[in-house]
Amino acid sequence: MLRIAAHTDVGRVRAGNEDSLLVSDDGRLIAVADGMGGHQGGEVASATAVATLRAEIGAGRSVEDAVVTANRAVLERADGYPALRGMGTTLTAGIVTGSSLRIAHVGDSRAYLLRNGELRQVTVDHSVVAELIAAGELTEEEALVDRRRSMITRALGIDRDVAVDVVTVDLRAGDRLLLCSDGLTTMLRDPAIRTILGDAPTPDAAARALVDAANAAGGVDNITVIVADVTEDHPPDGDEGGPTEAPDPEATEATSVDAESDAESDAGSDAGSDAESDAESDAGSDAGSDAGSESVSASPPEPASAPAPEGAHRRRWWPRRAPS
Ligand code: MG
Repeated sequence: MLRIAAHTDVGRVRAGNEDSLLVSDDGRLIAVADGMGGHQGGEVASATAVATLRAEIGAGRSVEDAVVTANRAVLERADGYPALRGMGTTLTAGIVTGSSLRIAHVGDSRAYLLRNGELRQVTVDHSVVAELIAAGELTEEEALVDRRRSMITRALGIDRDVAVDVVTVDLRAGDRLLLCSDGLTTMLRDPAIRTILGDAPTPDAAARALVDAANAAGGVDNITVIVADVTEDHPPDGDEGGPTEAPDPEATEATSVDAESDAESDAGSDAGSDAESDAESDAGSDAGSDAGSESVSASPPEPASAPAPEGAHRRRWWPRRAPS
């Protein structure tokens, strides 16, 4: 089971908090959402996503199906409200099923696993800078100050269909999980997060220390963290198959670690007919073309030509090319 603490803070610059979080009463479902949009849009988007997630899980849906439905809910919430048009949100949600945490993820909020003193990011950021780093066009150091660092390439509330990553983490007693919005990770590097997570005696102490550290580093964005300790080993699902048997056959493929992204095919089929391949391959080619001889300003110009001023770290949507 999980022992969970959650903390959200407006930070030191922003006027309101557009992040939302969820910890279910039974402690099986945790989620972080980071909204974007003018007026109250960001708050509405993240709150709508989290409320829909909770309702869908309560109705027995899978976490990835719940995220797909949350996407539609954010879109529909904006119908008829011009002030809300264009709002969107990240959503990173984890649910305990048997001995695993199944994570569904869209955007650049993150899930981390601290195990035996090592910190590992188990989600992939859907952001412009993450794609450029993956393409070898940007270093992690450069990404920290890149003007595109707040631009995300996937979000809920933008299109009818959304590609959802799914990551399965095999839980072990002693693991410490972290879900967080980018208000933490733009202020703190992974080594600092690892030290704070590793030193704090309880999830609550860890959550508060992380928020305090992000604020001490500037607090330019809303900061939301959920820290969950795995307090005992979970019985295997279903049968006596033993601790190495994974409930999802796909989850055993292709990796030497416990978590992997089996998302794209899953998400595609779940998302319905037109689940276009906006996933890995498209992301890769976009990053590739950005990385090519064209300058970045030759890409969708509006965000690139209007970087957020320093200290006003605003979530921005990065328009994708229409599928050809
Ligand atoms: Mg944020």
